[in-house]
Amino acid sequence: MDRFEEVFERLERSAFRRRFRLGAGEREYVRAKGMGTIREHAVAFVGERLAPAVPRNDGKQTPMRGHPVFIAQHACGCCCRGCLRKWHGIAEGRELGAEERENVVDFLMAWIGRQMEGREEKVLPTPKPTTRRTRARKSPGGETPGLPFLS
Ligand SMILES: [Zn+2]
Repeated sequence: MDRFEEVFERLERSAFRRRFRLGAGEREYVRAKGMGTIREHAVAFVGERLAPAVPRNDGKQTPMRGHPVFIAQHACGCCCRGCLRKWHGIAEGRELGAEERENVVDFLMAWIGRQMEGREEKVLPTPKPTTRRTRARKSPGGETPGLPFLS
């Protein structure tokens, strides 16, 4: 469908990247603000936090929540310069050019657009039965809660 398809497919194979999705509140925020405004935010975040040759706090400059664009950055491998290199082949240690910024913003907006369409539903990660099993094993006989006065 779009020029980002190949990277999206690679990202979808990463259990870590795949975890990031827009929740109801974030989708509502995007709807309320409109994609144009969200794009302006993305331009600002990328320009301030990602584009400098040596961004401040590089590696942890992108919060895990608080704005749909932040979530998009994690989902898209655009959260720090190390991830930009790994996922998008953009070298560290130099400022991002205008076209690179534009591409990153386009990519983030494409991801947000997909989330708004509900396209993420088909790549829902499978639930994690391991967690449940591990917890069950920790209390083998059960704790018979709630009946302390019977004996
Ligand atoms: Zn990163």
